[in-house]
Amino acid sequence: STFQEMNLPPHLLSGVFGMGFDKPSAIQAYALPRILAAPPQNLIAQAQSGSGKTAAFVLGMLYRVAVDDPPTTQALCVTPTRELAVQIVHSCLVPMAANIGGLRTRMGLAGETIERGRTVEAHIVVGTPGKTCEWLKKRMIDPKTVRVLVLDEADEMCNESSHRANSLLVRKAVGPQCQVLFFSATFPPAVLEYAEKMVGACDKILI
Ligand code: AMP
Repeated sequence: STFQEMNLPPHLLSGVFGMGFDKPSAIQAYALPRILAAPPQNLIAQAQSGSGKTAAFVLGMLYRVAVDDPPTTQALCVTPTRELAVQIVHSCLVPMAANIGGLRTRMGLAGETIERGRTVEAHIVVGTPGKTCEWLKKRMIDPKTVRVLVLDEADEMCNESSHRANSLLVRKAVGPQCQVLFFSATFPPAVLEYAEKMVGACDKILI
């Protein structure tokens, strides 16, 4: 398949080609039609690191964001470590969005502080579980404006006890109308069962 066949808008096609991607990887070919679907579909995807999963969910976030809308959080990605959050933003989100004027992104990492009571003024937030929950609890992120929630390394997010509580809080906060995408390199059966309960109705790809 080709990126042109995926109904990506021109600014996202120039994003993928600008990164030097000629055609979708296997996980992208399977996941993108579901991620970009109308109405949006939820997805649980198991794909190895190196398979191109980051670009798949980054395209999904960029697709749902309207930069002309006020910069409230419209896409939220939660990852277990700050290193992973930094990597997603620097190696994929920023280059993929190179041609999108007015887009505001923000990392939510331990140590990042914003004056209490102020809102996080970014269309896309990529954060660790603790900081993301703190911002939700302090109403600095309005969960009602979040259109797509991504959990990367979802196995860890669903299994490690403190991450698990935070993941559940985030998932409940965004509500049933928000698109939910879970990505992970592994989904042991018990973790998959828990993830399915968290996501709700969804497609699954396990490769
Ligand atoms: P990930 O699995 O997200 O860690 O991505 C692994 C690597 O594959 C990254 O260096 C990406 O830049 C690269 N990549 C992602 N999608 C594609 C694609 N469609 N064509 C070529 N390289 C890609």
